Amino acid sequence: MTAGSARQTIKAVWRSARMRVGGAAAVLIYHRISSMESDPELLALSPERFDEQVAALSRDFNVVPVDEVFRLLDRPGRMPKRTVAITFDDGYADALHSAVPILHAHGVPGTLFLSSGAVDSPDEYWWDQLEQICFAPAELPPTITIDTGARTFSHSLGKDAIYPPETAMRDASWNVTQPTPGGRQRLYLELASFMRQLPPAERNPAMASLLKQTGAAPTTRTSHRTLDAAEVALLSRDPLIGLGGHTIDHAVLSACSTEEQRHQIHDDKLRLEQLCERRLTSFSYPHGGFDDFNAESRRLVQAAGYEGACTTDSDICVAWGDRFRVPRYLPRDMSADDLSAKLARWLDEGR
Ligand SMILES: [Zn+2]
Repeated sequence: MTAGSARQTIKAVWRSARMRVGGAAAVLIYHRISSMESDPELLALSPERFDEQVAALSRDFNVVPVDEVFRLLDRPGRMPKRTVAITFDDGYADALHSAVPILHAHGVPGTLFLSSGAVDSPDEYWWDQLEQICFAPAELPPTITIDTGARTFSHSLGKDAIYPPETAMRDASWNVTQPTPGGRQRLYLELASFMRQLPPAERNPAMASLLKQTGAAPTTRTSHRTLDAAEVALLSRDPLIGLGGHTIDHAVLSACSTEEQRHQIHDDKLRLEQLCERRLTSFSYPHGGFDDFNAESRRLVQAAGYEGACTTDSDICVAWGDRFRVPRYLPRDMSADDLSAKLARWLDEGR
């Protein structure tokens, strides 16, 4: 046995002992509850599917607010069997109008993580704007170049500068997990990967440069809008709904300076608490992968007064786990039976 595999075995034995003695919980991550024609990032789940999933969760599991999972991680042995929490990232308006009524119908709690900069924003999130720019059947310049001062982007579309309506229609249901059908999808993937890594101070001018070059003027679609201040205030009075922070600008924290991270985490919390008139206790790292935040982010989230933070690491959380690196499982469009069976197996048997 190599040193690496010995370490893996010890880790697995330790994890299964922690599960047996202290228990485990599953935190689920959703983004949008909406039926959409085009959903390249697979962020949306239809209200019908979500309703089925929540019905199964409320029937087969002990659904608690995510803050309760944070507290239970530190109280080994107190974790009720089959504990699950439901969370939503990004603060799309459909979370209030479609998801919350379904949670109420089944009497289960949920937590919405909001980026304060998106509350009342006249613009869609940058990834939704990219979708409009790349997939509209409008002509784009043959070459797109973006220079942020620190980084450059260049992409040649060639003949794909022209995008006939029938091709756009054919590609409308494409998403990032599928093979790339053509030049517009390649452009989208490259732009998304470029924009995603930028700190907000570079991303905003980069998006402005892209809009200028392409002549695109993305609209704010009712279907893609984010919550406004009045809706956040309404949610904050709902006893079944928890609200949490997600930075001001949906920032990849690991790309930001310490000062910028502090601003994104701390000032976001202050703004949201003013809107909500309640103290926020939970946070979710934007994008949420282990490369998207660092030890400094974790420290600053704790220092801001949060009690725990969620990642997008696909796992269940086990007693004694780090409250500031809580993994979450993305159910996507699973059938309610498949989701219920998977979570039951995971929480009961650890696999
Ligand atoms: Zn997010």
